[in-house]
Amino acid sequence: MIKRTFADIDRIKEITQSHPTPFHLYDERGIRERARLLKKAFAWNPGFREFFAVKATPNPAILRILKEEGFGTDCSSYTELLLSEAVGITGSDIMFSSNATQAHLYTLAHKLGAIINLDDFTHIDFLNSVCGIPKTICCRFNPGGLFTASTHVMDNPGDAKFGFTREQLFEGFRKLRGLGAQTFGVHAFLASNTQGNAYYPELARVLFNLAVELSRETGADIRFINLSGGIGIPYRPDDPAQDILAIGEGVRQAYNEVLVPAGLGDVALYTELGRFMLGENGGLITTAIHEKHIYKEYICVDANASNLMRPAMYKAYHHITVIGKEGAEATRVYDVSGSLCENNDKFAIDRALPPIDIGDILWIHDTGAHGHAMGYNYNGSLRSAEILLREDGGFELIRRAETPGDYFTTLVDPDVARMLEAQQPQPLT
Ligand SMILES: *Cc1c(COP(=O)(O)O)cnc(C)c1O
Repeated sequence: MIKRTFADIDRIKEITQSHPTPFHLYDERGIRERARLLKKAFAWNPGFREFFAVKATPNPAILRILKEEGFGTDCSSYTELLLSEAVGITGSDIMFSSNATQAHLYTLAHKLGAIINLDDFTHIDFLNSVCGIPKTICCRFNPGGLFTASTHVMDNPGDAKFGFTREQLFEGFRKLRGLGAQTFGVHAFLASNTQGNAYYPELARVLFNLAVELSRETGADIRFINLSGGIGIPYRPDDPAQDILAIGEGVRQAYNEVLVPAGLGDVALYTELGRFMLGENGGLITTAIHEKHIYKEYICVDANASNLMRPAMYKAYHHITVIGKEGAEATRVYDVSGSLCENNDKFAIDRALPPIDIGDILWIHDTGAHGHAMGYNYNGSLRSAEILLREDGGFELIRRAETPGDYFTTLVDPDVARMLEAQQPQPLT
């Protein structure tokens, strides 16, 4: 199967005239379509709300599109809260799902009126000492052990640092009630980038049963259940796509079987999807600048792992399309590498591709979530620009590329400051 590129060679050439590669390109139309599909899948639940996981794509232009679609934000850091505030997403439109939380983060989350999702039992007293316990509070659950769906192990929560144990959750709800909390939510994130459609329905069943017990045993008034993130995307062309309508239907069945008979049929469902929302709606556009023939065949490109860390960090597969050669046969086998002095800086290893010429543009797929956001400056690398392809066909620079000045800006060295002052200003592309 061929993976979709949402801009053709003419459009990409047009963009590169003013904005040199590498850059991440996002697709407004695809983002809106995905948002509407998600809302459709959960339309049966009147309180349904998606809180987009800001960490996946922390760009205000993206957050504004999602806000227009009715979404809130899921934040876990100080700057993510600020970004959310900057685009006018505040109050209960923010879910604050942090861990190892510093006091000033709770202060800001509280000031913004965010829904605070506690990661740990000890944070009850901590939050209380920082800003008091708000009327609405959420707690993050970690069931421990392995999380399985129809005998298939999805992930290992027992090894994860997040959340309350089961016992802590019951104790915590009682304690929070005693401290003035009036309405409650339950949250869990048990598996990442899940394939197939089983994860959400299985997770929902676990959380729904838990909510019924919590409400019976602690008397807590549970108003929402947050299924968090974790729905994957088909990174490989042959991976089956997740069917969000089937996922929504699976969750609805669990809801009707567990929550409705228990008298909890008005509980709202929340999600915090990052990858599923944005992953396929972004691509990293890079140019082949060298070929190298040693013990293997290399194509060297102008992007590197600082623009997309997932292959180096997780050995993640990202599909590559050679723009303009979509129909050509994949008769060569290449490693596609970046410039970092690290042998894991490879976007692809032993990848069958059409013959690549210097100057060819490569589209590295599915970089819209956890792509640019995970960028870093190792080796003095500068992070790339981000460009948004608008629904009307135009495009817009939504983050310029970093300059040497950006890289040096935190140094307090006077010689560096003098050198920068003597330099020509960098172009803003
Ligand atoms: C990372 C994260 C998400 C988003 O995860 P995806 O895999 O991108 O869907 C949601 N919620 C929390 C608390 C997270 O840490």
